[in-house]
Amino acid sequence: MERRDVVIVGGAVIGSAVAYFLAAQSAGRCNVLVVEKDPTYADCATSRSVGGIRQQFSTPENIEMSKFGAAFVKHADDYLTVDGEKPTVPFVEGGYLFLATAAGLPVLRQNHALQRELGADTVMLDPDELHRRFPWLNVADLAGGCLGVTDEGWTDPYGLMQAFRRKARALGATYVHDEVVAMERSGNRVDAVRLKSGNSVPCGSVVNAAGMVAADVAAMAGLDLPVRPRKRFVYVFQCREAPAGVPLTIDPTGVYVRPEGTSFLCGVSPPEDEDPDCTDFEIDDRLFEAVIWPTLAHRVPAFEAIKLARSWAGHYDYNTLDRNVILGPHPAVANFYFVNGFSGHGLQQSPAAGRAIAELILHGSYRTIDLGRFSYDRVTRNEPLPELNVV
Ligand SMILES: Cc1cc2nc3c(=O)[nH]c(=O)nc-3n(C[C@H](O)[C@H](O)[C@H](O)COP(=O)(O)OP(=O)(O)OC[C@H]3O[C@@H](n4cnc5c(N)ncnc54)[C@H](O)[C@@H]3O)c2cc1C
Repeated sequence: MERRDVVIVGGAVIGSAVAYFLAAQSAGRCNVLVVEKDPTYADCATSRSVGGIRQQFSTPENIEMSKFGAAFVKHADDYLTVDGEKPTVPFVEGGYLFLATAAGLPVLRQNHALQRELGADTVMLDPDELHRRFPWLNVADLAGGCLGVTDEGWTDPYGLMQAFRRKARALGATYVHDEVVAMERSGNRVDAVRLKSGNSVPCGSVVNAAGMVAADVAAMAGLDLPVRPRKRFVYVFQCREAPAGVPLTIDPTGVYVRPEGTSFLCGVSPPEDEDPDCTDFEIDDRLFEAVIWPTLAHRVPAFEAIKLARSWAGHYDYNTLDRNVILGPHPAVANFYFVNGFSGHGLQQSPAAGRAIAELILHGSYRTIDLGRFSYDRVTRNEPLPELNVV
């Protein structure tokens, strides 16, 4: 097959964001091939995401990335319109509300101070203020909350992915329905990727955007990647007397809930020791019955009377080192780029991550947000850069 400047493995939201920024920043001069094994995108994390966008992180780079993510989604029409047709990328600016008991308050305050320093519009609320703003909330056991007033909320993950894809193609990127099954490597370079169809594609660079199976793709180039598939459930319920104005609310237990039309979405991440690597899609509604519902009913008494409507499973590309993205080239294989391990916040970071990879490939360095601390080097040195706010 024809030589490509860049081959991207995986064409969901991250692969398509990278393709878009490469095409846009090079004015179409970069010859990009996106290899996607499932063009229905039925099972990828992107299609199963909750679509949340927040600035409430503990790592400065994550705050900066999500600030750009919010701005990008807000102005998606400016970036992703094709032939006058606007993308379907709504931004419901419903806010995020992180709640804390006395034990969690110091960390919440510390994160809030950092977010404010970096320009995020988040406010600390004491229990009285929480009660005044959200009368449906049980604040009896709370010491405070942190609310994102602007630039926090949720979008349509599938819509954002398709909009990136469509615009990338309009700018000259090519998508092929195939699977990358091997890589041809000599010394510190990948020379070509091999496809299931039997074709081999010589390339200048390879970008690993394979989501939960990113470690398998890294292994094709002989590289280790501490990213594992971790199953998460999303439950959809209806509430007889639904409270109004519910932000994406995170209980101190980690249970989250947000409105979706007239329904609500909710979920929780399991404790680390009950979170095995897992690629199946089997759903366990017992988690809803035993953990999530009782927690929600305690926090929002109106949620005593709810009815589970449906549920689904999806997979985080979970970075077991520190729950932050691994971004940029491998130190020993200079043309193999990682953009993996988002651990549950990749949708909102797709614009910043796509732009970052394009900057590295086209210019050799970051031009906007310096994401050097997210490089693979920290894996080599075994120096985690942990993110505390993983939902
Ligand atoms: C339940 C759930 C809720 C989430 N909620 C949020 C949220 O609220 N906010 C947020 O920011 N993020 C959220 N996320 C995380 C976010 O969805 C992911 O970080 C993001 O979608 C990852 O995108 P990706 O393109 O890297 O991976 P994916 O969407 O998984 O796509 C990877 C693609 O690579 C393809 N592929 C894999 N291997 C190959 C190969 N060898 N050859 C060709 N193609 C290949 C796959 O078919 C797939 O299409 C959530 C995730 C889940 C599962």
